[in-house]
Amino acid sequence: MNDLIIKQGTLINGDIIDIVINDGRITAIGPSAATGLASIREIDLHGHYHVSAGWIDAHTHCNPQSPLYFDEPDLIGASSGVTTVVDAGSTGADDIDHFYTVARKAKTHVYAFLNIARTGICRQNELADMAQIDNERLQNAVRRHKGFIIGLKARMSKSVIGDNRLLPLIKAKIMQRANGLPLMVHIGNPPPNLEDIADLLTKGDIITHCFNGKPNRILDDAGNLKQAIQRALARGVILDVGHGTESLSFSVAEQAIKFGAHPHMISSDIYQRNRVGGPVYSLATVMTKFLNMGLSPEYILNCVTINAANLLHLPRKGRLERGYDGDITIFELKNQRIKLVDAEGQIRIGTQQFIPIAAIIAGVHIVVAENAAAKNMSAENIPTQNAATGRSRVNGISL
Ligand SMILES: [Zn+2]
Repeated sequence: MNDLIIKQGTLINGDIIDIVINDGRITAIGPSAATGLASIREIDLHGHYHVSAGWIDAHTHCNPQSPLYFDEPDLIGASSGVTTVVDAGSTGADDIDHFYTVARKAKTHVYAFLNIARTGICRQNELADMAQIDNERLQNAVRRHKGFIIGLKARMSKSVIGDNRLLPLIKAKIMQRANGLPLMVHIGNPPPNLEDIADLLTKGDIITHCFNGKPNRILDDAGNLKQAIQRALARGVILDVGHGTESLSFSVAEQAIKFGAHPHMISSDIYQRNRVGGPVYSLATVMTKFLNMGLSPEYILNCVTINAANLLHLPRKGRLERGYDGDITIFELKNQRIKLVDAEGQIRIGTQQFIPIAAIIAGVHIVVAENAAAKNMSAENIPTQNAATGRSRVNGISL
């Protein structure tokens, strides 16, 4: 007897497949792979809905106790069709133990980028005092939470670093060498200048807020991709969207994409305020914005599945293949007009959107999406059931 069978889900290429999940892993997948098999639970999508590997949001803030940027992992995760969320530096060595305890209670898979400041983001300028960077505490925290802490986070913008210029980043690079984890660097207002930040980054490091419209944008005054960014990309530095309240400019992203500077990861930088009040709303909304900027649905799905899994070193995630984790997102790609707003109030009208229907986590939790994505849009007839209520039907499909 199998744990869960998903019948007749449609891949983004149009193929219709069955997925069989046991003990948290995909054990069979393919056209008619479930024929003749029995399972404890079964979802029959009748070819009406898309399936992909579970979506991974590489930049969120989901420590409910964090004072500035906080949210609940399952609200930004499973209830939004996202099976894995990464908290990007809300916590540091001082409070990571507590966050770990909270994270383990969520249905959604939660991982953390550890802030190089020991207090995490408990105030806006966590790196203005260099005493906040304590290598011993940081390395101990990384050792204690191996597998939960998957990277380091340094926020390198004027309001965060005070007068310390590049020093926090230089220290972060030294600390990173001791544990080999990826480093995610937030960019915003200078100092330091983006060029100086980018020149310090090495293969696998992540620039988040990559399409921000602030002075530290990746384009120069003539609208070309800055030389330092071109060099960084050639070295294997990663571009991550990290939309957030202030950090996605449609015009910057559109121009960068024209130059071939496509995002490697599409993440939301979501937390309660920008989830409820916009402009982020959900990872699906951010993905929809990139549809409207001309990226293909396949490319966008890769950004939130296989790319994120590879770049965040999550080896059993990101693919719908035998042996991989039983994390699945069920969604619609709907042709429907939609008003999209970036972090600077620029508006675009899209014609197609990603609408999450349900998240399946390790083949165990089946959570129907709340569709926060629809809040500022004229979406109709979107199922709004929530697993928290115990109801489990989507558009008449029994879960
Ligand atoms: Zn953030």
